[in-house]
Amino acid sequence: MTKKLSKEQQKIALEGATERPFSSPLNYEKRAGIYYCASCHTELFSSDAKYDSGSGWPSFFKPAKKEIIGTSTDYDIGYERVEVHCNNCGAHLGHVFEDGPKPTGLRYCINGAVLDFKPD
Ligand SMILES: [Zn+2]
Repeated sequence: MTKKLSKEQQKIALEGATERPFSSPLNYEKRAGIYYCASCHTELFSSDAKYDSGSGWPSFFKPAKKEIIGTSTDYDIGYERVEVHCNNCGAHLGHVFEDGPKPTGLRYCINGAVLDFKPD
């Protein structure tokens, strides 16, 4: 199942762009629920793993299932970053950094525009 994406969503999902910090209402989303891939509706993250990183992008310390998030290395801004994408449809989601909270120590820094949140 593929949904039609807006221009901004396409820029992020297909071209690897990054939304402006603090531009996504999902930054402030605190309800329990599930975050889905906006492109293919695969379950990507649970609200249980969401935390406020202060970065300006919705942040999670682990994916709903490890195998659903794919990674690759990019050098788009001049230094090495680990890019993350939906393993089902290939949509770019954001990046993962190693400065997250316990227990994983990871920070999945995700563009809210390419997430679909469904409260429980
Ligand atoms: Zn997807």
